[in-house]
Amino acid sequence: MRNDRSLTVLDEDFQRVLAVVAHPDDLEFGASAALAKWAGNGTEVTQVLVTRGEAGIDSIAPEQCAPLRSNEQLAAARVVGASGVEFLDFPDGTLEYSLELRRALARAIRAHRPEAIVSINFRETFDGGGGFNHADHRVLGPALMDAVRDADNRWVFPELRDQGLEPWSGVRFTAFASSPYATHFVELTEEHLALGIASLDAHEAYVAALGGFDQKTFLRNNAEAAGARCGVALATIFEVIG
Ligand SMILES: [Zn+2]
Repeated sequence: MRNDRSLTVLDEDFQRVLAVVAHPDDLEFGASAALAKWAGNGTEVTQVLVTRGEAGIDSIAPEQCAPLRSNEQLAAARVVGASGVEFLDFPDGTLEYSLELRRALARAIRAHRPEAIVSINFRETFDGGGGFNHADHRVLGPALMDAVRDADNRWVFPELRDQGLEPWSGVRFTAFASSPYATHFVELTEEHLALGIASLDAHEAYVAALGGFDQKTFLRNNAEAAGARCGVALATIFEVIG
């Protein structure tokens, strides 16, 4: 298949990655195979979950769902070799663009000092369709990019410096998986893909609630389609900003 020359290889020469998403399962729907690749190469991967996904399963009330899905995320993070998981405890389903959200994200960026940030698509639609994107995803993307700038400005959120969190200017880019405006790709091996699939398997209750969803086929098809666009066997594609 002809290569999509608009997609370029992502520069993977970084030591610390911060993966920031709205919900447990967001990373596992495409980005986590790349996280597994990087963690396997010695990169420090930390996951930040803005909510606990407590509104994500119709048959399970939020107070039971929050700890269940938190534990599923911890298991998924272990599969890909992440070194830590943090929950910011914003409300699932009603996330708002706010200074509080930007401050919490800027705090995480200053604390972890990543060179790369990974998230998922914040555009209205997904690569390949899939309907209107979730409100929380659409809110998080712009707030996250603003927080990258906030993290580098000593005069914004001065209370963070009072907490010992100095400005951090080292973020080179933010990469959003599953975007319809992909610019870059990461080549994957079968091993990376297997870890990515296993990380979604870890969201046992969530996947069960989807009812007959075949995550293995879904993730393999996406990785093969992305690979075909880029002239490799398997890949994950990202919209890179920064
Ligand atoms: Zn989500």
